Amino acid sequence: MAMVMQPVSSWGRLTHAPHDVIALADRDRVGAVVAASRTPALAYGNGRSYGDVCLNESGVLWTTRGLDRFIAFDPASGRLACEAGVTLDEIIEMALPQGWFPAVTPGTRFVTVGGAVANDVHGKNHHGAGTFGDHVDALTLQRTDGTTIVCSREREADWFRATVGGLGLTGLITSLEMRLRPVDGGWIETTTTPFESLDAFYALADAASTRDEYTVAWIDCNGSRGGALRGLFFAGRHAASNAALPSTRRRAVPLTPPLSLVTPLSVRWFNRLYYRQHSTAPAATRQDYRTFFYPLDAVLDWNRIYGPRGFYQYQCVVPQAVQRDATRELLDLIAASGTGSFLAVLKTFGDRPSAGLLSFPIAGTTLALDFPNRGAATLDLFERLDRCVAAAGGRLYAAKDARMPAALFKAGYPEWRAFEAFRDPGISSQMARRLFGH
Ligand SMILES: Cc1cc2nc3c(=O)[nH]c(=O)nc-3n(C[C@H](O)[C@H](O)[C@H](O)COP(=O)(O)OP(=O)(O)OC[C@H]3O[C@@H](n4cnc5c(N)ncnc54)[C@H](O)[C@@H]3O)c2cc1C
Repeated sequence: MAMVMQPVSSWGRLTHAPHDVIALADRDRVGAVVAASRTPALAYGNGRSYGDVCLNESGVLWTTRGLDRFIAFDPASGRLACEAGVTLDEIIEMALPQGWFPAVTPGTRFVTVGGAVANDVHGKNHHGAGTFGDHVDALTLQRTDGTTIVCSREREADWFRATVGGLGLTGLITSLEMRLRPVDGGWIETTTTPFESLDAFYALADAASTRDEYTVAWIDCNGSRGGALRGLFFAGRHAASNAALPSTRRRAVPLTPPLSLVTPLSVRWFNRLYYRQHSTAPAATRQDYRTFFYPLDAVLDWNRIYGPRGFYQYQCVVPQAVQRDATRELLDLIAASGTGSFLAVLKTFGDRPSAGLLSFPIAGTTLALDFPNRGAATLDLFERLDRCVAAAGGRLYAAKDARMPAALFKAGYPEWRAFEAFRDPGISSQMARRLFGH
């Protein structure tokens, strides 16, 4: 086990602070390493969280990508047991040719399953399938006091509920068991519908919620004024086709430009072109799963375009009862600021209770938007958005966050007190210190 002090960033590249990096690779030795590590320590999956949930400045980071073995897979039932550092990409490579696909996937396939559990990630099918944790059957958790806890919905159920969405703070997940969903192949039947108001978005989302397995909307964050909103509503379902998939061609952003390429002008132009291209293209088409689920994965290191200062993502959810007014207010604040990016997403969550104590989704509308880091101006806007989220009784998503105030967290996640009992005292993160005070 190598131990090296090195700078580590998360996806937003806001900081590059030094960490004691301990690379985990041998599952049989993890217990001893975790128990012997200097504290506080923290697991780091593939660093696809945007902010500080996976960072532990000056402390230990256990990197888990070396825990990348499949333990068992049953091609008759789609049940998979694997180590926590396996990525969804690796699962798809192995399982898709056998007719299986992750039951829930976020917008990148380069996340580890340990990271997907710790943030209890969601995808475009939340309204039907819930979160990632809904498809996990068992977890093996290594604690820094040397104990190992195997938990599931039936056994040590309270540990299961705390660890799903537990932000890596209950222990190190070494392996897990999960269920995949059957598919005929890697193709998705999709429809794209342009819309020009927030009401039209909700009409599309309502109609699609019982008809389409996957739904999400892209919106032009500059185009919102009092309910007028330009966007594209994407819906999809797995196609009954196992035709060969196109080969992957990934481009890369080769270096970090000295200044952010995301400016009000470039965002305006991109949004105009993107809307025009998609609103005039055929409404119904068939896309390979990479194009439909993971458009951003096609460009390696795309996060560099924001330049050396990095970027934030702001993702909130507001409850169903107030979603229309609250979403309109949020969008108007963002449009008036003129600072959003081209990556802006709107989606309605279903009303299925989440698997974890601190899972993010609640029934309502989630808005996710990237912002170049412009220092105080960006943080001022976030404070205004926070006030709106708090007034609506909503919450922010830890996987995307680097700055939410503790008071907003505690108001949005009232289960935080119950969660405290399951924290591993040897584990902490920058986010935990900010939100829990330790
Ligand atoms: C382009 C892009 C699109 C995205 N789209 C979505 C989306 O649609 N929906 C969504 O929900 N999220 C989305 N995300 C966020 C991403 O899915 C989550 O941040 C995910 O948790 C990252 O997984 P990771 O393996 O990189 O973990 P990291 O980011 O490295 O870590 C995340 C958390 O998991 C903990 N952790 C990691 N491994 C373990 C382990 N073995 N045991 C215990 N704790 C562990 C860490 O301590 C940390 O708290 C997106 C991210 C990107 C970059």
